[in-house]
Amino acid sequence: MHDLLSGAGRLLEGAVDVRRRIHSNPELGLDLPATQQLVLEELDAIGLRGRTGVRCSSVVAQLEGPSNGPSTLLRADMDALEMPEDTGLPYASKVEGRMHACGHDAHVAMLLGAARLLVEHRDRLPGRVVFMFQPGEEGHDGARTMLDEGLLEDHGPFDQAFALHISSLLPSGWLACRPGPMLASADEFHITVTGRGGHASMPHDAVDPLPAACEIVTALQSMVTRRVPAFDPAVVTVSTIHGGTATNVIPERVVLGGTIRAVSDRSRDLVLAAAAEVASHIAAAHHCEASFDLEPHSYPVTVNDDAMAARVMSVAGALVGSERAVVMPSPVMGAEDWSYVLRRTPGAMAFLGAAPPGIAQPAPNHSNRFVIDEEAMSVGIAMYAAMALSSPRASASPRASTSPGASTSPGASTSPGASTSPGASTSPRASA
Ligand SMILES: [Zn+2]
Ligand SMILES: [Zn+2]
Repeated sequence: MHDLLSGAGRLLEGAVDVRRRIHSNPELGLDLPATQQLVLEELDAIGLRGRTGVRCSSVVAQLEGPSNGPSTLLRADMDALEMPEDTGLPYASKVEGRMHACGHDAHVAMLLGAARLLVEHRDRLPGRVVFMFQPGEEGHDGARTMLDEGLLEDHGPFDQAFALHISSLLPSGWLACRPGPMLASADEFHITVTGRGGHASMPHDAVDPLPAACEIVTALQSMVTRRVPAFDPAVVTVSTIHGGTATNVIPERVVLGGTIRAVSDRSRDLVLAAAAEVASHIAAAHHCEASFDLEPHSYPVTVNDDAMAARVMSVAGALVGSERAVVMPSPVMGAEDWSYVLRRTPGAMAFLGAAPPGIAQPAPNHSNRFVIDEEAMSVGIAMYAAMALSSPRASASPRASTSPGASTSPGASTSPGASTSPGASTSPRASA
């Protein structure tokens, strides 16, 4: 492991340069032409050919080791956020209203670094590794688009899939993971409450949707506490209310917007159904009507495979020491479209701490002041590479012999690296 860390250390300067180039030119959604071009050029420089997507600017590349063995999928997301940057960094965003505030620039740079490191260690690579560079994680269904375009059919099946996510709240160089639910589901909704407009002085001649909308906001919170089991939590946040034009006018309609998060399919389904019910019944009690509409882009719960999470902790412990490899006490209520990949193939996601040194209260992911300790990227490079190099299967057989068939991970029985995280006071917060 230590040769991987020192190898990654040698690559850090190049990775920082790549990260800063991406950081200063952030791109949004599924169409990231400049980032895609940069990835293709960097892959080309180490002798790997990137295959590009059709409906999105994805890049997929593959590296084969000398022997048959497990197949590993490693992923980095590449997109930025629609928001201003106020970090004052010399390499800050040059595009107004766009910022890499979730660390995806670092993810790309780290995965490119890992590809370079794995090319150097190709003789030790059991099986093959596939590098997945995905656009559109921040609510644009990038991973699902890549799955629809045949990621698993063309490049799989995979014995293990692994993704890292930077967190500016976790101490720099720490790795955090957990078995089971890792991140929440995310469903964005709009509730339209429709009444009948009129004069604000004569509400009895109108049907006022505003009080009904206000009751719906509070009733949603009561619904969560009374209907959702306390140990299978969910969050409903109404974050926008739009209605009305003048103080003496009762509007025809009010629109509420918000998000629903849950850490199990059961709670998610329960809350989705109950929220629609609460909205329509409260509206009806006030002679209004309510429609409950979900945005088409929704992310399911990100669930780490238990055996994979144990392997991640084991590899992380060997890499950074057990005191810096922490088991997270609870999932994070953010969401990830890596969830779609983990529904189709065994795998896991881990957080990489990158809290800037000397700052008591670092700005979290998605903050306009989000900064990271770039030194942590060498741990990320080594961790990606280590996951590909440490086989989930006991042994590899020479290539050209048989058995390409994938069996799942008996090697995950133990997790010497996993400490039960008293140090995980800083729960990482990241993602969409
Ligand atoms: Zn994010
Ligand atoms: Zn993210």
